[in-house]
This record gives sequence, C-alpha cells and structure tokens, in this order.
Amino acid sequence: YLQAKYSDFVGSNVKQNGVDDMVLIPRINEAAITDNLKIRFLNNAIYTYIGPVLIAVNPFKDVKIFDDKFIDMYQGSALFENPPHIFAIADHMYRSMVSEMENQCVIISGESGAGKTVSAKLIMNYVSKVSGGSGRVEEVKEVILESNPLLEAFGNAKTVRNNNSSRFGKYVEIQFSRGGEPVGGKISQFLLEKSRVVLQNSGERNFHIFYQLCRGTRPEMKAAFNLAGPECFSYLNQSGSFDADGIDDVKEFGETLHAMEVMGMDESVQEDIISVLSGILHLGNVQFRSAAGDDQVDVVDVRQLESPAAFLQIDCETLRLKLTSRLMESKWGGKSENINVPLNQEQACYTRDALAKGLYSRLFDFIVESVNKAMVTQGSEVNVGILDIYGFEVFRQNGFEQFCINYVNEKLQQIFIELTLKAEQEEYRQEGIQWSEIQYFNNKEICEMIESKNPPGIFCVLDDVCATVHAVTEGIDSKFCQKLAGTFSSYRYFSYATDQFTISHYAGSVQYSPSGFCEKNRDALNNDLLLLMQSSSNAFIRALFPEKVQDRSRPTTAGTKIRSQANRLVKTLMSCTPHYIRCIKPNETKKPGDFDMERVKHQVMYLGLKENINVRRAGFAYRRPFDKFLKRYAILTKETWPQWRGDPKEGINHLMAHVAMDRAQWQLGKTKLFIKSPESKAFRSHNSDR
Ligand code: ATP
Ligand code: MG
Repeated sequence: YLQAKYSDFVGSNVKQNGVDDMVLIPRINEAAITDNLKIRFLNNAIYTYIGPVLIAVNPFKDVKIFDDKFIDMYQGSALFENPPHIFAIADHMYRSMVSEMENQCVIISGESGAGKTVSAKLIMNYVSKVSGGSGRVEEVKEVILESNPLLEAFGNAKTVRNNNSSRFGKYVEIQFSRGGEPVGGKISQFLLEKSRVVLQNSGERNFHIFYQLCRGTRPEMKAAFNLAGPECFSYLNQSGSFDADGIDDVKEFGETLHAMEVMGMDESVQEDIISVLSGILHLGNVQFRSAAGDDQVDVVDVRQLESPAAFLQIDCETLRLKLTSRLMESKWGGKSENINVPLNQEQACYTRDALAKGLYSRLFDFIVESVNKAMVTQGSEVNVGILDIYGFEVFRQNGFEQFCINYVNEKLQQIFIELTLKAEQEEYRQEGIQWSEIQYFNNKEICEMIESKNPPGIFCVLDDVCATVHAVTEGIDSKFCQKLAGTFSSYRYFSYATDQFTISHYAGSVQYSPSGFCEKNRDALNNDLLLLMQSSSNAFIRALFPEKVQDRSRPTTAGTKIRSQANRLVKTLMSCTPHYIRCIKPNETKKPGDFDMERVKHQVMYLGLKENINVRRAGFAYRRPFDKFLKRYAILTKETWPQWRGDPKEGINHLMAHVAMDRAQWQLGKTKLFIKSPESKAFRSHNSDR
C-alpha cells in the first residue's frame, strides 16, 4: 500500500521520473544532472542519490512524504529498497551507529534557503521516532525536538534569501546508549550574527523573538514591560519589514514559551529573559543630540532612559553617563587619574548598540547553555551529530558576517572534497586498487588564504590591524583593506578594487566591503559597559556578565574564535562516519513548481556533483578491512564459521566464490576488500548495516 501510495507521488517510471541514483545517469555533465533533478522535482521527487550522498531540492511546498507511514516504510530497510528519501539516510545512519558502535555525523550543506534546517529537523524527528525508550529517554527526546523552536526564535530571522534564515550555526549531537536509546545531547553553536539586533538590511527583520514578544505577550506583561507593536521600536522599524510570510509571531511565541518550560526555565527565568529583551528594545529608542557647535552629546529626552534602566535594573543616571561618556585613564605630570571623556553622536550610538548586541549575544549563549543542561548525560556510548549552519550567502552589501559564514561553508566543502573525492582516490592508490584519477576543483587554497597562520591569511591580517590601535578609529577598515591588497594581490582567488575586496569562493565570487570588519572582529565590550551591567540589581543579568574587568591587551577576536571553532568542528566531523545531504535551492521566488535551470546548474557545478558521480561510478561503494569483513559474513560458509583460520585474503576469496560474486565487482587491496555495489543480492540478507 505504501509503495503504491509513494508511487503516486514519485512514480516508478524512469523516463517520467529520471534516475533516482545519478551514478546511473547515461551522460555525466552538469546539464544532464540538472535535467534529471528537474524531471524529478516536477514530479515531486525531491530526493535523488549519488551513491550514499543525498541531493535534496527544496520543493517550497508540503510534498506529504514525511508522516508516520513513511517513517514505518523506511525503518530498517536498505537504501536501494525504497525511493530516495531523507529518512533512508537517517535510518542508515542510526543503524550503522548501533551495529558498528561508531559515531556518525550528517553534514547538511547548501546555500541560504536551500532547506538545511528543515532537513536537520526531519532527521531529528526520524531518529527520535525510531529509537525506543521511556522515562528519561522520552524527556531527552522532547528536549532535543523542542530545542528547535527555541533556538530558531532567538537565532533565526527573515532575510531577503529566506524567511526563516538561521543566523547562527549549530552542531547537534544526540547521544545514545549501547542499545540505541537517546540518553542525552549536546549543542555547539557558532557565531551568532549579532549585528542584526541593531541593524537589518531593507526588507529583512530582526530575530523572530522580538516580534513574538511585541505581538504575543499577555496584556499584563505588555503593560509591565512597556511593550507595543514593532513599529514603535527603532531596532525593529528601520528595515521596513515587520512580517514574514508563513510565520505567525503570536502562535510561535506560545511555542517558544512552551519550549522554555521543557528546558526547565521556570516563570521567573522567562520573566528575566523578557525583561532583557524589553530592555534591549527600549535601549534602542534612546536618542542623542548635541547642542549647536558642540560635539558632546546628551540624551534627547531623559525619559527615554527610564524603560531600559528599569528592565535592565540599572541606575538611570549611570546609564546616561555611560552612554554619553567614557572613562579614560589620563596621565598628568606623573599622576594618573580617571576622567570621563564625553562622546560625540556617533560614539554614543555605537556604545548604545554595543550594549544591545552584548546583551543579546549573552542571552543567546544562556539559552543554548540551558538546552545543554536539560539534556546533559554522563553515560553515553555513541552519538549522531547533525550539522546545520548558515548557508553560503551573497548580498548586495557583504560584510564581516558574510565573510565568516562563507568561510565556514568553504571549510565544509573542503571536508566533502577530502572525504569523498580526495580520500577516496587516495585510498585506492594506497591499497593498490586499479584506478583512473578524476580531476576536481579543490578549494583548499581558498581556505588557506583565509585562515592560514603562516604565511598570514586574511584573519591574521585583520587581527594585526586590530591590534595596532587601541580603539576602533576612523579609517581603520580601509587600512585593513589596503593591507589585504598588499598581501594578497598576487593570489588567484583574491582581487581588490577601491576599498572593496573580492574573494572567488567555491560557490561564486563575493565582493566584501571592509567597513565594520575591525570593530566586529575586536568584539570587545568596553569595561564601562561591563561594570554597568555588573551593577544590575538583577542576578540573572549580572550572571550574563561574569568576566573580570581587566585590560586584555590582545583579547580573542571574533575571527580567531570562528577559525578555531571551524577547525574543531572539522576534527569532530572527521572522526565520525560521515553522511551528506546536499541541499539545492531551485529558485529565488520561494514558490513551488519553479525550477530555474541556470541557478540549479550553478549549484550542481559548485557542489561538485559531477565529480562526485564520476568518482562514485568508477569507485567502490563498500570497503572493509579483511578481518572485519570475514567476521561479519563468517556465517555464510562452514569454513569461515565460527572463524577463518588461514590467510585472510584466501578467506575472502573463498567467501566470494561461495556467493558467486561477479569478479569485476570487487578487488582486494592491501588491507581492505572493495566491492562496487554492496547491494549485491549475495549479501543482502546479511547486510544489517546497509
Ligand atoms: P539558511 O542558510 O538561510 O538557514 P536553510 O538552508 O536552513 O537556509 P530552510 O530554512 O531549511 O533553509 O528552508 C527554507 C524554507 O524552504 C523553509 O522555511 C520552507 O518553507 C522551505 N522548505 C525547505 N525544505 C522543505 C521541504 N522539505 N518541504 C517543504 N518546504 C521546504
Ligand atoms: Mg537554516
């Protein structure tokens, strides 16, 4: 019945539906691959394989293939038994983890709006549905699933590319017992785009939570926190966009609160969070003005300070002082004393915004921390990791955030290359397997240009420029840009033109404007603001600012942080058995049924799908060290059961002869057996891991 039902959507006719594993595609070029995806897309077959890699084309509509019946259908079945589906990948991943007791990860990549977050959630759902358990396990599952709406409320926003764009990256590990029950979890979070709190491009929104707050709170809360519609707040009304299609802020606020309960955040914590959020919104409404002919500012109206001071529980007059002046050490005749230096308009706005961003990013850290606490465990054996980061993005104006986001995507592409293209071919060489080399574009050089320490890459140059000055001063960004031009002008993937630099990323060229790079890289909250927040009479707020005031001469920069996070992530991923989902965005209109050939072809090209197919086609899908293989299939012959005693190679020859495997289908390497298609009938009934 299910097969028939799925066929209604997917069909089984190859002509009508293209091929479902592109390893089988008759001609391998980008146009043919794109055509195949199109035929399938128009038939609602959004998933296609390249061997074990899943290609997912965003349908922008409900394709009705994700309910429990489909979960049943894919449970425990082999990849080739059913039409391609994300559940098949999830199932394969889960079963491999249980049977091999090896950590697994799934790397979900694709540009902004391609469907990564939706895919990640489908996998979490699937794993939670098929893994057993009761009591604490049920609790852990709930925490894992409810972490999604919570983190999306605080970390996602409407951009011009995606109405629910992830503005942070996350790696979610679900930790399992030996029996395959989820017993805990851990979320690592990467670089929240906090500049969005104070500024959004036209047509974009701030983080969802602010609109949820303005629209969804109960009337008495609204009154208590002086809340009003988003059009009343400067941090929400500058971009001209208040609504996002498909998003109901009021309803989602209910879900956010529910998720908070699940994380064990009680009403008083919820109120603290709302207080901080309200404090941020009201802080944004503080304006400055200076008397004619004077540089020095004061707040336009002291009453504007009342709400932020009240909700952040700090002294109103101190807030005024800290927003309009800065304490500086002055050395005079051998004596040193601290004096308040007044700020000008620009500096005052900058200080106000720095405080808002600092508050928000610390609140976000707190939320992630709370989720982690709610699912912490001591006793886990293995885990499944799901990587969902912000996708490669290009806007009209690209700044430090885009640079970091695109760098992380560059690193992920590098892993894909290392593991599927390079490692695969290297292993054949090492094992002495007959093989003809396949050419592919390697983006390693681009990664190095950005992150290398020696010779200094772009992040290092940026850190150097930041370290040479004490405060971010005018012209520092163009100084940075000049220095880049001087250092990288001979590099293939770099170019420079009047205060802009361009990087030819694997996914396309992006022109970056250096403005703001230095300030965002420094990322330090000044001591005045730190002390101000530590003077709050609210313990929750004080706890958001635990660090000691000191003058760190060279504090960790945002660039250094993202670079080490990215490299730690790569290490983690490399230590797992990887699975890949390559998401493709079929159009810019976000409409169903719209398949833009050129856009898709471009993605097919930069995702390296053609090379992927070529390597796959010439390659061997299954490989196992001799002893592992012999052990697994020992039961097939009496000579190998319970244990083969002779030379392992002979043992394998014996097994292969016994199952009559076609000689062209397999080769013996130096330490491993390679089989072209593991789905061979001979092994099917024994392949619990496929
Ligand atoms: P970003 O990098 O901006 O976070 P993303 O790759 O995570 O982008 P998603 O948020 O997962 O993109 O997807 C964007 C939108 O596309 C979703 O909000 C949803 O409307 C639609 N979409 C994605 N995948 C599917 C799917 N499988 N079925 C139906 N709609 C989908
Ligand atoms: Mg996303």
